[in-house]
Amino acid sequence: MDPEYKKKIPGFKSMGSWRVKEMEYTIAAISGDGIGPEIVREAKKVLDKIGQKYGHKFNYEDVLMGGISIDTYGVPLTDEALETAKKSDAVLLGAVGGNVGNSRWYDVAPNLRPEAGLLAIRKGLNLFANIRPAYLYNDLAGACPLKKEIIGDGFDMVIVRELTGGLYFGERHTETVDGVEQATDTLVYSEKEIRRVAIKAFEIAMKRKKKVTSVDKANVLDSSRLWRKVVAEVAKDYPEVTLENMLVDNCAMQLVMNPRQFDVILTENMFGDILSDEASMITGSIGMLSSASLNESKFGLYEPSHGSAPDIAGKDIANPIATILSAAMMLRFSFDLDKEADAIEDAVRKVLAEGYRTVDIMDEGKKQVGTTEMGNLICERI
Ligand code: NAD
Repeated sequence: MDPEYKKKIPGFKSMGSWRVKEMEYTIAAISGDGIGPEIVREAKKVLDKIGQKYGHKFNYEDVLMGGISIDTYGVPLTDEALETAKKSDAVLLGAVGGNVGNSRWYDVAPNLRPEAGLLAIRKGLNLFANIRPAYLYNDLAGACPLKKEIIGDGFDMVIVRELTGGLYFGERHTETVDGVEQATDTLVYSEKEIRRVAIKAFEIAMKRKKKVTSVDKANVLDSSRLWRKVVAEVAKDYPEVTLENMLVDNCAMQLVMNPRQFDVILTENMFGDILSDEASMITGSIGMLSSASLNESKFGLYEPSHGSAPDIAGKDIANPIATILSAAMMLRFSFDLDKEADAIEDAVRKVLAEGYRTVDIMDEGKKQVGTTEMGNLICERI
């Protein structure tokens, strides 16, 4: 066994032999602000239940980020906190930030506000691929704003968005030319940036229905033409996966006309920003949506798609499911524990089918439960 290869397997460092099945993982746990501590606590509880049932051990290194780090250290993310995250096998994050209009955290320069911690950790960990599933639970179909005949028996897609390149990271400036102000943003993509995120998308498709829809604007943009060329090259290494190219304007329409056609959508940073929000909206429930941001190895940061919800913090009413499902993504993508990830997802489906709901997804005739009870119910069904 190549010792370098061993180092790349999370948990392997604490093991003596290939025959040992029980795995040990170190997770950097960032509770953050608002509802963050409540939802991360529930996700840890679920992970520990998985650990008990399948014989793994999850160790948590608590890391401060966001407003709580500002209060403690004066900055939203310390170098030490970033180092702890780097040394872990994966990062689990609740959410950061406070009430923007009414918090001392926002009376400072943007680089000292809670959300700056997020940008710093994404950059520091080189997380270039953002993965956001958009899944419609049968039991929550009523929350979907689309017509029944469009929803059919539900949809299940994943958006893979390039996160560290493109228009948001290109050179930009504003100048005055002949007395008229003009602003310039530049959209740059290298072959390398496209290839690495495309590989992620195809790898994910291999674990799903084996279809990738690559979204671009190749009828106009050079960067999109390069995108299409490189994605086609990557596709050759995945003959089992069907590749389809789609223009971004068409994709925006198709998402609401026929969302069931999609399995994995692969796209660049700005298109992904917009399309992933559109895809989340059609599921109708923000408290249910997980996400992952990955780097070149299997390392990732896992967090719910929603924010810190300061309006409901500390009331034991936040929906912990998005964070719990993010923990399931961690098991699947960073630790290759597919069976264990399935167990969490199945438990969530069961709890919903039995009619349990947190307040954000509450419906007539259902049983309303709080954050802690929802976590307990999911644990009991694992
Ligand atoms: P938000 O997602 O926190 O809340 C929007 C609405 O959804 C609120 O009414 C909230 O109560 C509700 N909500 C969100 N998550 C919920 C859950 N799990 N269960 C039940 N209800 C839930 O968005 P916002 O209000 O625009 O932002 C609040 C703070 O969060 C801001 O400081 C913002 O900057 C920050 N934020 C952080 C992240 C992150 O950490 N990744 C992402 C987005 C926003």
